[in-house]
Amino acid sequence: MKLHVLPAGPIQTNAYLLTEPEKGEAVLIDAPGNVWRDVAPILEKEKCKLTELWLTHGHWDHTQGGAEVVRETGAKVRAHLEDRVLIETPEVMERFMGERMNLEPVAVDIWVKQGDTFPALGTDVEVRHVPGHCPGNVLFYFKSLPAAFVGDALFNGSIGRTDLPGGNFDQLERAIREQIFTLPDATVVYPGHGSKTTVAHERANNPYVSG
Ligand SMILES: [Zn+2]
Repeated sequence: MKLHVLPAGPIQTNAYLLTEPEKGEAVLIDAPGNVWRDVAPILEKEKCKLTELWLTHGHWDHTQGGAEVVRETGAKVRAHLEDRVLIETPEVMERFMGERMNLEPVAVDIWVKQGDTFPALGTDVEVRHVPGHCPGNVLFYFKSLPAAFVGDALFNGSIGRTDLPGGNFDQLERAIREQIFTLPDATVVYPGHGSKTTVAHERANNPYVSG
């Protein structure tokens, strides 16, 4: 499996493209605006078809490019039900972002929840619910790598903001302790913004989360 880190969109949101050239399949995690421009040439070069798009949460900077990706590929979309309003009626976010952005809704095919496991790219993936930055933030955990794609719950040395609608600091802090810090130490954490980190490093050093 290959991992391509593709920061895109107006606030450099990380999209993660996982490809499995042996199976000719690929999965995209999050879809910032215009991410298709970066994804398409990689799929072509590696002769992979994008079968699924997974949204870590419903904030516009993670979903803005989603409708285009689905139109181009027919990828099935997974997301958590608690962010349904954000994903299906993204204009509600223009109110709290304070500008008009012509956001397109994304049609979700499969609603995921805490503890779901499913096969993808020849391995198993586990879903964990990490609310507090936003009600429907989930992580996608690949035990076989090991890696967790955590959206905006946890960053390298920081955590997601909790001042947006549906945010709650205490809930986020607890969810990080219960759902992320319980993953194996060596698990690489891939956040929605900025550089990767590890579970061990954040458990030892993150100033926002009590050990
Ligand atoms: Zn967010």
